[in-house]
Amino acid sequence: MARGKFIVSTNFKMNGSRAFLQDLVENLNRADLDSNVGTITIPSQLSNLRKDIAVGGQNCFWKSSGAYTGEISAEMLKDAGAEYVILGHTERRTLFKESDSLIGFKVASALAAGLKVIACIGETLSERESNTTLQVLFRQLQAIVDHVQDLNQEEKWEDVVIAYEPVWAIGTGRVATPEQAQVVHAAIRRRVEETVEGSVAEGMRIIYGGSVNLGNARQLAREKDVDGLFVGGASLKPEFVEICNVLR
Ligand code: PEP
Repeated sequence: MARGKFIVSTNFKMNGSRAFLQDLVENLNRADLDSNVGTITIPSQLSNLRKDIAVGGQNCFWKSSGAYTGEISAEMLKDAGAEYVILGHTERRTLFKESDSLIGFKVASALAAGLKVIACIGETLSERESNTTLQVLFRQLQAIVDHVQDLNQEEKWEDVVIAYEPVWAIGTGRVATPEQAQVVHAAIRRRVEETVEGSVAEGMRIIYGGSVNLGNARQLAREKDVDGLFVGGASLKPEFVEICNVLR
């Protein structure tokens, strides 16, 4: 499985008025973006985005339709033009009590519906300080592996991007050092090799998220196992365009 392009993705979360987002979109639409980078926008509202930027949803349910007020299905996201969906973000895990197993199930359902998935995993500060980072990440990863393997479609792994998002780095301004990110990304890749397959591990894009900004993006992107950047706060600022072009 060949590794795809380096990815830079936004995560606008539940932010932005129509006018604010329209400005951001116009800025992206006008930008000279590196065609070697796959740019993804995970908008809080759909907008008139240029076609070479992929669009993703911030969450989806595992049923395709029905009486599930407040939910949106993977099929509906796809029908609306989305290519990606984020699943397992720490805000979903903590604020909305989504379990490892539910997230694994949602990942498999979204893949089966034809979406690509950015599956987030990450440890809290206390987990890092008690040296259980890899244990926590591997537990979260295993739930995803188990459900994706249940699909019995090896090629579906091509549509999975793992986002390593240390919880202590999200929205805190405290970014992981490039070395910390590299160590964890390499460990995740080894784990995928052990639990899935070598070619899947080699081809898998593992992206980093957590207080990425223009000041730290380039150094993070230089690390061998960092295959992209997941950008929250800074994706709401014009500097996002420059983050997209860090490989230049
Ligand atoms: C996120 O929430 O996915 C994220 C990366 O946020 P921030 O960049 O603001 O830390």
